[in-house]
Amino acid sequence: MYEFPVQLAPLEPGWVWLVGAGPGDPGLLSLHALNALGQADVVVYDALVDPRILDLAREGADLVYAGKRGGRPSAEQSDISNRLITFARAGKRVLRLKGGDPFVFGRGAEEALALAAAGIPFRLVPGITAGIGGLAYAGIPVTHRDVNSAVTFLTGHQAGGDMPQALDWEALSKGSPVLVMYMAMKHLGAISERLLGAGRDESEPVAIISKATTPDQKVVETTLGACVEDCARAKLEPPAIVVIGGVVRLRSALDWLGALEDAAQAADGT
Ligand code: SAH
Repeated sequence: MYEFPVQLAPLEPGWVWLVGAGPGDPGLLSLHALNALGQADVVVYDALVDPRILDLAREGADLVYAGKRGGRPSAEQSDISNRLITFARAGKRVLRLKGGDPFVFGRGAEEALALAAAGIPFRLVPGITAGIGGLAYAGIPVTHRDVNSAVTFLTGHQAGGDMPQALDWEALSKGSPVLVMYMAMKHLGAISERLLGAGRDESEPVAIISKATTPDQKVVETTLGACVEDCARAKLEPPAIVVIGGVVRLRSALDWLGALEDAAQAADGT
């Protein structure tokens, strides 16, 4: 248990806390998340939860993997919800830990609905989503007053694995100066073609941020016309966020993490 200088709600037996763990860096956890890690009897976590965060769980906590990763067999979503309900009914303090924010493309809403339907008391703790925190660690602001007054978060992958047909790519292309795309690597070719076809420019800046906020973070800066080729050449690994739009240009001045790494290398060299 950690001693917090502020009063925080306890994770009570029989409750489920649905908690966002952020994109990777444990420093991006909320106090509620850390507090829950110090109290939980069971931690049910996804593949995207950084192992350094699981190390913060209370000694003796039961760590249950409920992960899935594109292409690999997935624990059925209803199974996960049922397990949460069973643990809660057994009087456990249940921490459901999800990568990023539970309510952003993370099926947290499905789990919360199942808990609500079963009458299980729950708390929702938001996390820093990869589409915001990951961009910050790449030195890319989600908005800048002179660049964009709107931003769209979207998934490049729909349930079933196809490119989302329900999205109106023409409208997105015209209406949203900045697009932040989750799960977009597989269909990047098709997506960039749709956007180019709808009038976006080949030279428009694109950044792809892989394993954002982890020690393995990699960023590729490219353009809408060249992103598929550049992405393949860089052999980027998932998970990755794709950001399209003028804000990417600001990275040349704002890449604070790159500057830190350069400074560390220079210090090593002396
Ligand atoms: N709930 C999560 C998103 C889950 S969907 C959130 O709020 O961040 C999974 C997708 O999130 C991945 O395919 C990838 O696009 C993105 N993602 C999650 N963690 C990431 C990370 N550390 N770096 C880059 N992308 C990440």
